Amino acid sequence: SEFDLTCTGCGINIQTEEKDQPGYAPLNSVVEREYPVCQRCYRIKHYSDVAPVTLDNEGFQKILRDIGKRPALVVKVVDLFDFAGSWVKEINKYVGKNPIILVANKADLLPKVTNFERVEFWLKKEVEKQGVRVDDIILISAKKRINIDFVKEAIDARIGNKDVYVVGTANVGKSTLINGLLNLYGHEEGAEITTSRYPGTTLSTIRMDLPEHSGDLIDTPGIMTKHRLTDLVCAKSLRDITPDGYINPKTYQLNDQQTLFLGGLARFDYVEGPKQGFSVYAANQLNVHRTKLERADELYANHLGTLLLPPCEDCPDTLRSLVPHRITLKSGHPQDIVISGLGWITVRGMHYTSVVVHAPKGVEVHTRRALI
Ligand code: GDP
Repeated sequence: SEFDLTCTGCGINIQTEEKDQPGYAPLNSVVEREYPVCQRCYRIKHYSDVAPVTLDNEGFQKILRDIGKRPALVVKVVDLFDFAGSWVKEINKYVGKNPIILVANKADLLPKVTNFERVEFWLKKEVEKQGVRVDDIILISAKKRINIDFVKEAIDARIGNKDVYVVGTANVGKSTLINGLLNLYGHEEGAEITTSRYPGTTLSTIRMDLPEHSGDLIDTPGIMTKHRLTDLVCAKSLRDITPDGYINPKTYQLNDQQTLFLGGLARFDYVEGPKQGFSVYAANQLNVHRTKLERADELYANHLGTLLLPPCEDCPDTLRSLVPHRITLKSGHPQDIVISGLGWITVRGMHYTSVVVHAPKGVEVHTRRALI
């Protein structure tokens, strides 16, 4: 061929003459790009078809530090269903003085009766607690395309001539949001989007043109974490623990010495306190099983993977031994006991309450002021 170039996507020889023949790439794209791809691969890389890229922690630190070194607008995406699990302290630490728009995604999962003003207030408080500054907080559902227009407005207001970096952990809905945003910026749905990826370089980012602005929209790889159950289960079980619509909280009136199993992935022992209600916020399809504390060990030993499911047989063994977390709640505000990636249990009673939450090793368990 006229160029001694191969496509970095599929390895085919690149040619710039015959549009309908394999290996075709427009001349300018070949000249401009450090890592040229043929048009076919280019199309496969059409945004929604791009497989999520992931990087190790050091890779991210590098990307984040780079963002801090230049004028940039940062859109930080977090998952409302797993706020702490998707927060990533480093993002705020490294972006320096650059403005941050905090986008809390998956608002569609919260129960229908949710007071979203309160959720917004809750988010504000949580952000304050982290001791960081964000310039906007926007609750959205990327999937349902709710409030993405507010994200666009915030970007338009703050972008100047900067680039916009979209950052967040894997699975927060970053791609879905970007597709929604690109759509609002006039990119046609399903049409080819000007993207470029630089495989193998430290800055493994995707750059997209924003027609109204001189800056670009830049997707960064999804930051990998290891402390969310969603990071640990197999693909099938992931579907079993991922809510796919409004969560209907299940409330259990428990006496002390009673236990709830959340599938076989977590166990909630109510050790001491008065009879009271506990509300489980998790995927509606997740089976919650109630039993006596004294029978819990036996039930777990005999019914893990059957009655207590997930984990399923494809899930890693690490999910089949649980680590206890002792939690005592004193009277005060209602609290959520969060099991990262799985959901949370709200304790509304204003009494001394002692529980033990068992979760797979490495899965973060913590308490917070009740979200709802
Ligand atoms: P990324 O890894 O951050 O790019 O996330 P994706 O955009 O690929 O989304 C990850 C998962 O979250 C997919 O299963 C999406 O369907 C889902 N998702 C994305 N946005 C929303 C949302 O607003 N609500 C709900 N319920 N799910 C969402």
